[in-house]
Amino acid sequence: MAYQHTIEGQVSALPLGKVVCVGRNYADHAKELNNPVPTSPILFIKPATAVVPLSGDITIPKDQGECHHELEMSVLITQPLSKATEEQVKEAIGGFGLGLDLTLRDLQSKLKEKSHPWEIAKSFDGACPLSEFIAPEKITDPENVDLQLSINGSVRQQGNTGDMITPVFKLIAYMSQYFTLQPGDVVLTGTPAGVSALNPGDELLLVLADQLRVEARVC
Ligand code: ZN
Repeated sequence: MAYQHTIEGQVSALPLGKVVCVGRNYADHAKELNNPVPTSPILFIKPATAVVPLSGDITIPKDQGECHHELEMSVLITQPLSKATEEQVKEAIGGFGLGLDLTLRDLQSKLKEKSHPWEIAKSFDGACPLSEFIAPEKITDPENVDLQLSINGSVRQQGNTGDMITPVFKLIAYMSQYFTLQPGDVVLTGTPAGVSALNPGDELLLVLADQLRVEARVC
């Protein structure tokens, strides 16, 4: 099934663009991978070809070592943002959702050792399952939202966007200093601690506040 942006159950006319992501935006996650806490956001991009629907079956690579889940709040952009202010960012948000920043961790570790870019560990086909979006007004304060991932019935990642090192609006404004965000682009806002390997057959339940529940199965 091809991915299309969906907002409140309605397929959106917005095209699917790039996905702009941030590494180590929660201090507890930076620590669990023995990474220093960065002084400015570490940005990377997943192309539209990495995006698949986060529902039903999601397929992971089988022959590349461990494929880790990173649960993240996603933000749908509906207006062009270039060198934007936080106020402009607030007016350009068309929805909030959940995404998985799938990461080939063994491969990424090898690339990091050689100081090479992470691209193939983070941007492969299928590396970015995205949920539908809920209307922005349903999230009273995007900088204070709980997100949780359970796998096979046990909680594996639990966080609150209030714990981000760079908060949501400031982060998107920062991204727009380097990359123009276009209508249909998506921002992933970083992952809390608890990342680990996915395995075929895992049953995932992802929850954003009390507003969005998504179920998926790894195959
Ligand atoms: Zn991530």
